[in-house]
Amino acid sequence: MSYMCPLCNGFDANRTFHCPTCSEVMVDSGRLMDYFDDYSAYLEIDGMKKVDGFPDDTSSHQCPHVLTCPTCGSEITQMISEFYIP
Ligand SMILES: [Zn+2]
Ligand SMILES: [Zn+2]
Repeated sequence: MSYMCPLCNGFDANRTFHCPTCSEVMVDSGRLMDYFDDYSAYLEIDGMKKVDGFPDDTSSHQCPHVLTCPTCGSEITQMISEFYIP
């Protein structure tokens, strides 16, 4: 039994997110974890304290993804709800 992120596991390939700035379709750049070294400084500035591997990540069953907009260059972190696999 586990929780799986649909984006990480390719179950939701047609899911799209729209840029809050220009409404164009954003590109999933992968899990935030994969960018952790690069983003740790940014996260601290952003007020996020769970820098040590997101301890609440599994309990909340959300997978943080970095989304980038190829049109205007905006970048956001989107929490993706994971689903339960018995
Ligand atoms: Zn994911
Ligand atoms: Zn944009």
